[in-house]
Amino acid sequence: MGSPTESYVRLSLNEDLVRSNEQVYAPHFVSVLDPSLLGEVDVTAGIPEGGWLIVNTVMNQLDIQDIVKRKDLNIATIDATRIALDILGRNITNTIILGALVRVSHLFTIEELSDAIMMRFKGEIAGKNIKAIQQAYEETCIYEIGKDVDFFVHTKVPWQQVDLGLPGYKELDKAGVWYCDENIIQVGSDQVNTGSWGEWEILWDKDTCTDCAQCWYICPDFAIIREKGDDGLWHMAGIDIYHCKSCQNCLNICPVNAITKRMKQGPASCAAPEESGGN
Ligand code: SF4
Ligand code: SF4
Repeated sequence: MGSPTESYVRLSLNEDLVRSNEQVYAPHFVSVLDPSLLGEVDVTAGIPEGGWLIVNTVMNQLDIQDIVKRKDLNIATIDATRIALDILGRNITNTIILGALVRVSHLFTIEELSDAIMMRFKGEIAGKNIKAIQQAYEETCIYEIGKDVDFFVHTKVPWQQVDLGLPGYKELDKAGVWYCDENIIQVGSDQVNTGSWGEWEILWDKDTCTDCAQCWYICPDFAIIREKGDDGLWHMAGIDIYHCKSCQNCLNICPVNAITKRMKQGPASCAAPEESGGN
């Protein structure tokens, strides 16, 4: 109910964790929760031929083709708003549209999705969401073009920064600073004290750390500091508290629990009443 927002999910076919957390540039499936976005945002950008566009709408698929100006996509429609209002009593469609995603993708089952919903929600709310996704699964209208996206074809678009002719992750050291040859390029939030945003102080235990660099990959603010050692390689050196916004991504991914957290704020203290005045 504000500005158009995008979010991304990567699913792995094997049991490895998905390590890549940058924007998805070539999505196989795109779900659009609000049909008014179709004419406002290029929702099909990067979808390869045979990919799927899933839309919460009462329009038919041919009308959608006309709006997005692509005929090489499979399209699924679902009136998720009506289902949401009928079952949830509110126009919240983000779980409901997953019923349509299951129907066209076969990436997971309704039962698996229901289990996930029960882990996220409790009691009546979980029950209503499950009922809503089941209804969405059954009511989804499907328009197939006779081609399916090949999951095994490498459709990843090169990382944006590399495309711009700037150095890639191997040259990145710390928050918002890229080292390019001998030059330092200030980028991103380098000048912003994002470290004041979060409530946690993130702590790093040098002795436990195995220098695997997974925290550094996943930090959204380049707040993991690395230093070049005598061996010519970059090594984990600490947390840049000026930029660490305590999102805890690093803490969650560290395989050896070398990163922990503690509340920044101590117990509340009350000012003593002044001698004169006040009550
Ligand atoms: S808590 Fe978040 S911002 Fe801070 S160092 Fe870890 S990943 Fe980066
Ligand atoms: S993820 Fe953990 S072990 Fe790996 S470099 Fe970071 S702190 Fe060290």
